[in-house]
Amino acid sequence: MVSKIDRQAFLQSLIVPPGKEISLHKDYDPGFKPDYITKEDATLLLQQGIEKMAEFQDKLYAQDTYALLINLQAMDAAGKDGTIRHVMSGLNPQGCQVFSFKVPSAEELDHDYLWRYYKALPERGRIGIFNRSYYEELLVVRVHQNLLERQKLPPEDRTKKVWQRRFEEINNFEKYLVNNGVIVLKFFLNVSKGEQKKRFLERIDRPEKNWKFSENDVKERAFWGDYMKAYEEVFNHTSTEWAPWYIIPADRKWFTRLAVGAVIYHTLESLGLKYPTVTEEHHQALLKAKEILENEPD
Ligand code: AMP
Ligand code: MG
Repeated sequence: MVSKIDRQAFLQSLIVPPGKEISLHKDYDPGFKPDYITKEDATLLLQQGIEKMAEFQDKLYAQDTYALLINLQAMDAAGKDGTIRHVMSGLNPQGCQVFSFKVPSAEELDHDYLWRYYKALPERGRIGIFNRSYYEELLVVRVHQNLLERQKLPPEDRTKKVWQRRFEEINNFEKYLVNNGVIVLKFFLNVSKGEQKKRFLERIDRPEKNWKFSENDVKERAFWGDYMKAYEEVFNHTSTEWAPWYIIPADRKWFTRLAVGAVIYHTLESLGLKYPTVTEEHHQALLKAKEILENEPD
């Protein structure tokens, strides 16, 4: 089993250290897992973790002070959907929300780029997942610059400077959120190119998985190198003390789920969540209500 010390060290190893330059392919192995964890351990640990997370979630909701925003980013077939399904499985649906961001609509393009994400932020007491997030504005939009053209920016913003500006804007945006009680978690599910190919082939070979595959996925795969470069820039500019990036090894699905679950668990735990204390007035009102109920005629 994993001790608390192991857990701390392990979680630390996933973080992109703020202010330090990392190399995605040298420093982060998509196939990594610690020697002391087996698949069986992982299933059990995740199960136990989920039960405890349900308790945290109940307190988060009752306390109504913090919200948790989880940004999930990855290349196709890295396991975003499965991770959401597994990690959130034991939680109360009433306190959770998932938004998946696709190609922006005409209405969305008529606004500033953060508008659609801002509208989808979780309210206090809730856990909100962004399945793809505002980081796509620095990823797909950077890899395919025609997408930037569609954003109808003033001409002076359609230059290379726009990326540096967006790094700063997003860091400031996240700082603002954290200052206002929205905890921001950011995960990159780090799948290898070889494993993606295996998963694509499985999506093609298994009829019940066909719906998950679009021919565009193969076209995007051709831009793998550009995406990795864009991701690396994102990590090196937007992993901050207030909202660090976690890079999750994603070649083993069971390990991805455990690692994401562990970070969420640890984050919720560190908030020191408590049920609101009942005021004397409320306590008296409860006693009164009890008396009324007990004295009701049958
Ligand atoms: P999927 O997540 O597989 O359903 O695909 C969603 C698609 O929407 C992907 O091809 C993304 O690259 C694309 N997408 C997501 N966000 C943006 C964005 N801000 N601008 C352009 N395309 C996007
Ligand atoms: Mg897709």
